[in-house]
Amino acid sequence: MLQGMGLPAGSAPELWNLEKPDAVRTLHRAYLDAGSLVILTNTFGGNRLKLERAGGLGERTEELGRAAAMLAREEARERAYVAGDMGPTGELMVPLGPLSHKEAVGIFAQQARALAEGGVDLIWIETMTDLDEARAAIEGTQQVTDLPIFCSLSFGRGGRTMMGVTPTLAVKTLSPMGLTAIGGNCGEGVEVMIPVLIEMRAASAQAGGLPRPALIAKPNAGLPYLENGETIYDLGPEDLAARVPHFVELGAQIIGACCGSSPEHVAAIARAIAGCC
Ligand SMILES: [Zn+2]
Repeated sequence: MLQGMGLPAGSAPELWNLEKPDAVRTLHRAYLDAGSLVILTNTFGGNRLKLERAGGLGERTEELGRAAAMLAREEARERAYVAGDMGPTGELMVPLGPLSHKEAVGIFAQQARALAEGGVDLIWIETMTDLDEARAAIEGTQQVTDLPIFCSLSFGRGGRTMMGVTPTLAVKTLSPMGLTAIGGNCGEGVEVMIPVLIEMRAASAQAGGLPRPALIAKPNAGLPYLENGETIYDLGPEDLAARVPHFVELGAQIIGACCGSSPEHVAAIARAIAGCC
């Protein structure tokens, strides 16, 4: 969406929280007007490692995170919750790569602290594929704030994340850490969300203990394809919204859309929820 507004490809979207705040505000407003009850801060890649790789912005992690949270807070006011968005570091964890658990905890703690200081209502850790990185993000957040935590992982059509994590293992490992919500986001198309919800609900019931985390379904708008050098996703707003009653039936309580979606997709989802719940 930001690239459509002129953000150069390859440039860190988080920089616009300070340099083009009105563009970020306009997007927040578009999602609020579409009926979003939770909006995410423009900080998906706003951790020190990723910002450093995007043009040496690591030093500005806290400043960019706080600014992002304040922008979203000011637009949402009391009409929606603001989720402080934290995506993966983009670095492989030990033993596959150089990132130690302790270092990862510190990186996520720094980002979560800035988001909390900027006034978010919760922290949303998303698009995770490595269980250890997800754990590090949760631990880092819990070191600096007691805000509620949502955690969603990205699953492929084989029913696992890229790093081989199943929905059952994710629930068994992460839910006991004290999550408010758990589920799937992004991933390979929209159909992957169905086995994810079925497995996660069953694993939650088995794990016992209350309260159980709420279930999240935040799929991409279908699958991407290239058209004239542009990435297009193959599900329109109504096609995506048509899946919503099934997600609700399977126990999803937090429903949204990820890559390839637009405010029109969210508006269609909001209508579908109003029609089925
Ligand atoms: Zn996505």
